Amino acid sequence: MARFFLQAWDLISGFFMQIFMAFGDIRLVDVIDIAVVAFVVYKAIGFFKETRAKILLKGLLLLFLAWVLAQWLDLISIRWLLVKFFDYAIIAVAIIFQPELRHALEKVGHSSLGNFAKGRDSAINVELKRMIDGVCRACATMQEQKIGALIVFERSTPLGEIISSGTEVDAAVSEELVGNIFYPKSPLHDGGMIIKSGRIAAAGCILPLTSNNELSKQLGTRHRAAVGMSESSDSVVVVVSEETGTISVCVNGIISRDFTPITLRDRLYTEILDPDEKAEPGFVTKVIARVSVLFKKDSSEEMAETQDDKES
Ligand code: ATP
Ligand code: MG
Repeated sequence: MARFFLQAWDLISGFFMQIFMAFGDIRLVDVIDIAVVAFVVYKAIGFFKETRAKILLKGLLLLFLAWVLAQWLDLISIRWLLVKFFDYAIIAVAIIFQPELRHALEKVGHSSLGNFAKGRDSAINVELKRMIDGVCRACATMQEQKIGALIVFERSTPLGEIISSGTEVDAAVSEELVGNIFYPKSPLHDGGMIIKSGRIAAAGCILPLTSNNELSKQLGTRHRAAVGMSESSDSVVVVVSEETGTISVCVNGIISRDFTPITLRDRLYTEILDPDEKAEPGFVTKVIARVSVLFKKDSSEEMAETQDDKES
């Protein structure tokens, strides 16, 4: 019995010793190495969750299972075909997901360099907010009057080709101009409007239709063009339905429906504004805001008092 306990003790202590020694060998570079890999895996999972890559991942997993099965049952021809497929799949994936990969790489570049450009962004965001507010007010009117609209906000993927398929406008965004362009008798009401760097670049543009068969059959070409545009670029597309007045937003090939002008504004702020501006204010900012409220209260009380004095 005692021998058994001794052996068990040896085993357990040996196990912990090994772990302890392994930790003893860990260098700072190993920790950084593991952290970087963990970060890349985390981001990759996010990428697969956020984009249509999820469907592709399912397909690849099925093919991998087929390969395992072929290996196990020794199906030489199927195995050969799948191996050849996997050889070229990486190139196919890079081509199919070029917009998403490009967006992801640009995001990496932007988050590391973007912090140097703080301060300047806040002025840009004020302009962008004004532009988004104008578009949302126009959408509210179009929703009420059931006027169809298709509005594309360019982000990092350049939309030069789409812009040149329509009529160049190059004007500041205003509620009135957006409403005028989509007014049913206007010459530019058909097709999509492209907003680039906060200005209306063009209208009457032809957008690529999606080939997604899973979309509801009730959605016609206007909505299919919106989904297609958001699949082939990182743009944000807003659709107002002529039939129902429903407002929808398409991003990354995914259509979200039934927006109100308020929820539309919130979504566009999230998608288009610089993230630094939307971040929670820091501790110092909160303290300054509190103090300035106190001062404001004092001065308004003073004003009230002087008013009382005058009245008496
Ligand atoms: P709605 O709900 O507004 O009726 P829908 O999704 O049912 O929209 P349709 O009724 O087919 O779509 O809308 C036709 C209009 O959509 C066209 O008049 C045109 O303005 C626009 N449209 C259709 N295809 C494209 C395209 N490829 N690019 C840009 N605009 C398009
Ligand atoms: Mg229709």
